[in-house]
Amino acid sequence: MQKKTVAFSKESANLFFHILTQCNLSCSHCYINPDQHGNKTLSIETIQRWLGLFAKKAFQTNLIFLGGEPTLHKDLPTAIKVARRLGFHSITIDTNGFLFHDILEKITPAEVDVISFSLDGATPATNDAIRGKGSYDAVLSGIHRARKKGFACSMIYTVSDKNLHELSRMPELVASLDIDRFFIQVIGMRGKSAAAKKTGQVSKDLWLSVIPEVARTIAQTGVIVTYPKVFLDPEETFVCAGLVADNYFVFPNGRVYRCPLCEDYPLHAYTIENDALVPSPPVNETHLFELTIPEGCVMNKIIQPGNLDYLADGEPAHRIACCMLKQEIYPQP
Ligand code: SF4
Ligand code: SF4
Repeated sequence: MQKKTVAFSKESANLFFHILTQCNLSCSHCYINPDQHGNKTLSIETIQRWLGLFAKKAFQTNLIFLGGEPTLHKDLPTAIKVARRLGFHSITIDTNGFLFHDILEKITPAEVDVISFSLDGATPATNDAIRGKGSYDAVLSGIHRARKKGFACSMIYTVSDKNLHELSRMPELVASLDIDRFFIQVIGMRGKSAAAKKTGQVSKDLWLSVIPEVARTIAQTGVIVTYPKVFLDPEETFVCAGLVADNYFVFPNGRVYRCPLCEDYPLHAYTIENDALVPSPPVNETHLFELTIPEGCVMNKIIQPGNLDYLADGEPAHRIACCMLKQEIYPQP
């Protein structure tokens, strides 16, 4: 089994494109914040023009369609075909599993690289308590139907204090699903979590004692597992992806962020105005990326300082990595 930290690179870019904010679910940790992201559904013409803004580097850009629930957008199949024609390196749909508008009948595995399903529990009881009634069954049935049609599928599990206890049951479930990749995410202080003033994040000791071990076990089932680094080892260098990587988080109200932790604030680096990417006036997130603090990530310290500890001399006990720094575990060939 091979484990590696994925270094940031300007060689590849990621475009996270929220084409609408509407959703059929109301997950307790939903990061969509209508005050900051609006409640628009982009027209297919606008989607097409906004994709064009990133087309120059399309061949090295991974495009992820998100919402809300992106399959609620009736023109998602057309958007995918347009993105394919523009030459995006890869195209992913992030879905809650309900797969609206018969999406699987309107796209092909040649057009979409991955359909990624969100599941936050190994049982309907735990998952549906977080994500909503029926969502567990929707994900399992959605994966089954997508695999039958030949689509590559992956799964995202957002870890919180509400579902950490079921992560150890995921290897068995994953092994039964015929998916290619499993992503573990950490719940963030954004959207509904921020409004409730409670992240539900797990402690450093729990994270380090559970996550790497479960990740290894899932990888043994033949699946690539990705999870966030979160806590930097003492010898590791802190790097802010905002300075060295090309990530764009586009919302339907035209805001374009470079850092997902900034999405709850009007700190976006750009705004799309009249179909042009316009840099935001100071102060915006790019000014925060340049700040150096002993705790590592600046935005982490601002919005979720609960995961920091300090020694008696006031020095931080550990540094928090950029939220986009990932560990990957590859199964043995
Ligand atoms: S499925 Fe996604 S967009 Fe919908 S409520 Fe849940 S987290 Fe929010
Ligand atoms: S999460 Fe922190 S380190 Fe990463 S881009 Fe945002 S501010 Fe920079």
